[in-house]
Amino acid sequence: MPESLIHLEGVTKVFLTDEVETHALSGIHMDIVKGEYVSIAGPSGCGKSTLLSILGLLDSPTEGSYILNGRPVQGLSLPERARIRNREIGFIFQSFNLIGDLTVYENVELPLTYRGMPAAERKTAAMEALEKVGMGHRAKHLPSQLSGGQQQRVAVARALAGKPAVLLADEPTGNLDSKNGDSVMQLLAELHKAGATIVMVTHDVRFARHADRTVHIFDGRVVQEQMESDPTRA
Ligand code: ADP
Ligand code: MG
Repeated sequence: MPESLIHLEGVTKVFLTDEVETHALSGIHMDIVKGEYVSIAGPSGCGKSTLLSILGLLDSPTEGSYILNGRPVQGLSLPERARIRNREIGFIFQSFNLIGDLTVYENVELPLTYRGMPAAERKTAAMEALEKVGMGHRAKHLPSQLSGGQQQRVAVARALAGKPAVLLADEPTGNLDSKNGDSVMQLLAELHKAGATIVMVTHDVRFARHADRTVHIFDGRVVQEQMESDPTRA
C-alpha cells in the first residue's frame, strides 16, 4: 500500500455561531493515495464543503489530525499553511472565482506570482496549463467574454499551473448547464488519466462515474464508500 497523500484521522469540525453549535463533521477518517480520483457525495448541508476546505487548508479541524504529503499540518503558523496551500493545493470552485478585470492569462499567472516564480517560468507554466484545458487561444480574453464552461476551464488551468499535489473541486459543475458540465467533468477525467490526484465534491452521484471511488457523507459522517469500478460507463 503506497503512503497516503491525504490522511485524515478523527476529523471533527464544530462551528459556533450565536451560541449554537453545528457539528459539520464528526470523526472523519480518510486516506487518499497519489493518482486517485475520489468523489465526495451527499445531500446539501452534510459537510462536503467543510471537508474540502479542511483538505485545502482553508479551514482547520476542531479535533483530529490531517497529514498532507507526509506532513502533519495542524498547529502550523498561518504563513506556513499559506505556503503549503500555495504549493500543494489547486482549488476549483463552483462559481469559478476568476478575477473579472484580469485577462485569462493573468488569472492563471497570479498564483504563480504569489509563490515567487520567475517571470519566464510563469509564462511557460501558465500557457502550458491553458493549453492543457484547451483555452490557450483565449489567453488575452477577459472572463466576461467566455462561456461559463470556458471560465471553469480557465479556473482548472489556474489550479493546475503550479503543479499541485492535489486538485480539490467543490461542485465544479454546479453553475453550468449540462453540456458545459459534462465537458468540465470530461476534462477532470482526462487530467486524472494523465496522473492528477483529484478530490471532487458533488451533490449528484451521477457526476461521480469517472472517479475511482465515491465517499458518501451524511450528517458529517462517512456512511458508505463505493468503488466506481465499471470503466465502460459513459
Ligand atoms: P455542504 O457543502 O455539504 O452543503 P457544508 O460543509 O457547507 O455542507 O455545511 C455543513 C454544515 O455546517 C451546515 O449545517 C452548514 O450550515 C454549517 N456551516 C458551514 N460553514 C459554516 C460556518 N462558516 N459557520 C457556521 N456554520 C457553518
Ligand atoms: Mg457545499
